[in-house]
Amino acid sequence: MKRALVTGGAGFLGSHLCERLLRDGYEVVALDNLYTGSRSNLASFSGSPAFSFVEGDVIELDRLAFGGSPLAERFDEIYNLACPASPVHYQSRPVFTTKTSVFGVLNCLSLAMRDGAKLLHTSTSEVYGDALVHPQNELYWGNVNTIGVRSCYDEGKRVAETFVADHVREFDVDVRMVRIFNTYGPRMHPQDGRVVSNFIMQALRGDDITIYGDGSQTRSFQYCDDLIDAFRAYMELPKERVRSFAAEHGLGAPVINTGNPGEYTIRELAEMTLALLPESKSRLVFRPLPGDDPKRRRPDIALARELLGWNPSVPLREGLAKTIEYFRNTQKA
Ligand code: UDP
Repeated sequence: MKRALVTGGAGFLGSHLCERLLRDGYEVVALDNLYTGSRSNLASFSGSPAFSFVEGDVIELDRLAFGGSPLAERFDEIYNLACPASPVHYQSRPVFTTKTSVFGVLNCLSLAMRDGAKLLHTSTSEVYGDALVHPQNELYWGNVNTIGVRSCYDEGKRVAETFVADHVREFDVDVRMVRIFNTYGPRMHPQDGRVVSNFIMQALRGDDITIYGDGSQTRSFQYCDDLIDAFRAYMELPKERVRSFAAEHGLGAPVINTGNPGEYTIRELAEMTLALLPESKSRLVFRPLPGDDPKRRRPDIALARELLGWNPSVPLREGLAKTIEYFRNTQKA
């Protein structure tokens, strides 16, 4: 039985990944400090004998991997998902956010070296910042403010990528990186603060739908299951293939974008949410745009398509309907 570690395993995406790995026959250890994750995300599989949960911080991973801890035993695969990802949460403790990205990935790289394990590190479309290239492909270096309110996340994730690239070059660690574009679905935290969860919660409660700015900024929304498919497909590839593909495409380290290239304005998203909840009494209201908010975002996913034979399959309307159902049920519970 293969053993996998999922850091951030009690989070929105981490919990979906744990569930998939258990289904695929893995023994799974989830590490989470429960800052934005929650035990309720683990409820449907935490009783599995192949699953264990360690409450702790990825920043302390080296100190937690001792003696009888499930972290002390060898892993075949490590997935590093630990980091608050919603602007509201990552900006409320910015120093901690940068530390999580930077020390977290370093600890995961050390663990991968200890075990000769494969590591999948989750990066973000935020490394492109307020992009001047559209759509964003992996060769674009980004347009990022070093001292703005988003910098703790953006620059933390950028340094993490640098650590990964240098561990590949210097120590030959078997790492692959995924730059995740906006992803949504069941198990997002209702108070997460991100646009999809905000709009759905507001529409369900009949509260005002808060559009920041004039709503003309765009995002591309990927349903969580599509992303988990990409993680699994990427991890399955042998190191040689991952490396040669990156080199052929002029990339300094193995990295791919994952996202759904359908691009919507935030206003369109608000209108689609309301169309799916016709009984809602909510109205659209406009609020100030937060600092450094990117104007246009859409992934170029040609590399992921070519390397993984992967394509996102869940259209926004369908994924939103499933997510609405989830939030409706959690509200009732
Ligand atoms: N946004 C909005 N209303 C909200 C929450 C977010 O208009 O209640 C906007 C936000 O300003 C941004 C976009 O929606 O332009 C996506 O925001 P989110 O926080 O989901 O993620 P981001 O892509 O900005 O990291």
